[in-house]
Amino acid sequence: MSTATHPSPVTAPWGPEYELLAAHHTSCPTCTAVDDQGVNLNLPCAEGRRLSEEYRMARHRA
Ligand SMILES: [Zn+2]
Repeated sequence: MSTATHPSPVTAPWGPEYELLAAHHTSCPTCTAVDDQGVNLNLPCAEGRRLSEEYRMARHRA
């Protein structure tokens, strides 16, 4: 998976970083934690923040 030197435009319009971020936000128990009303708690998540940062930097490069 990490052998590709060029990000494939086929995987996602915003690149693999977005895929990782989206996958994390739908599977991470911290990022998906909600309160009684079903409102996202926006808990601090080190992994989520790192992925967001990588996605942001990848977009800057694009
Ligand atoms: Zn998370």
